[in-house]
Amino acid sequence: MIILLLGCSGFIGSHLLTRLLKKDNYRIFGWDLESKKIDHFLPSKNFYFTQADVLAKDSFESLKKQITDVDMVINLAAICNPAMYNTRPLDVIKSNFLDVHQIVDLCATHGKWLIHASTSEIYGRTLSSYYNDNYADKSLYILKEDQTPLVMGPIRNQRWSYACAKQLLERYIYAHHYENSLDFTIIRPLNFFGPEMDYIPGIEGDGTPRVLACFLGALLNNEPMYLVDGGRARRTITSIHDAIDAIEKIIERPGVSKNKIYNIGNVNNEVSMKELAEKMRSIFAKLYDNADYLNHPIEEMDSKIFYGEGYEDCDRRMPDISLAMNDLDWSPKILINDILEETIRYYLKKHNKL
Ligand code: UDP
Repeated sequence: MIILLLGCSGFIGSHLLTRLLKKDNYRIFGWDLESKKIDHFLPSKNFYFTQADVLAKDSFESLKKQITDVDMVINLAAICNPAMYNTRPLDVIKSNFLDVHQIVDLCATHGKWLIHASTSEIYGRTLSSYYNDNYADKSLYILKEDQTPLVMGPIRNQRWSYACAKQLLERYIYAHHYENSLDFTIIRPLNFFGPEMDYIPGIEGDGTPRVLACFLGALLNNEPMYLVDGGRARRTITSIHDAIDAIEKIIERPGVSKNKIYNIGNVNNEVSMKELAEKMRSIFAKLYDNADYLNHPIEEMDSKIFYGEGYEDCDRRMPDISLAMNDLDWSPKILINDILEETIRYYLKKHNKL
């Protein structure tokens, strides 16, 4: 099986590469702007890496040649940092729709199966949050791939730039399927967590990454953990290892997985951001055997101050995962405390702090 893997050095890409290269039956043409997370794979006999922007003119010409040799294209490349959605919306829309739609065209032209990582963010806010029913009616908040309406806020709330670009790309893929028989599989990840997920602010970079890295940075830099708008938003946390199991099964079962959209998430791991902060404090206390961490400061902050104007939150993301469970004979197994402990341990060891 020959795979063209776009974004092979990202969070999901590097974990998927690790898994696929353990088997002998995959040859992988990987592309990324950098190779930091996958340098150790560069000598592998089944891995051919190109460090370039696929959409630069010369690169795109070589990509066009390469695509004729592969069995499928997996697209994992995206800008997905929530702090950018309302501060650099043009870059977000460009990279998540305008640029990448050319890859979809290419797959359609060459008749290649496209496995595309979209986002659970395209569901937007739940209907429950608009009807104010306090999650009494499951049909207003459980996210089902082919039934749930996709609900985004007004244009001035630029938080939705990412969701909207990713949604348009899903529609574009589906339109190619409808008009040009493109085979596709769309994955909607529900907050995948694990080693090498993000950068730790103040240690590995600047700015505002996603919540796990923000809280980790706060704990390591002895700063408060900030709960945006009270930390009421809820997320279902999925281990990257469970997620990779699902993606591997999608690749291995084209008979069922083609032309489907899958939520990949773990409904047993739902937490509010306040609960997440508290859990992370407890894990620090356990790993360092130091109860002082249980009192590490947690403070509330208005989203306008934390993210700037135009931020609006997804209130809750509780997926229906029955389609993935039935089609792929898959179920997520790793519970939230284990996911957090593994990830925190990884970063502490990486920075010689454990
Ligand atoms: N959040 C928070 N404190 C932080 C960073 C994020 O309370 O330091 C909140 C954010 O407002 C959202 C949730 O955590 O409600 C998850 O945010 P993340 O950036 O991880 O991405 P999302 O799940 O929204 O795509």
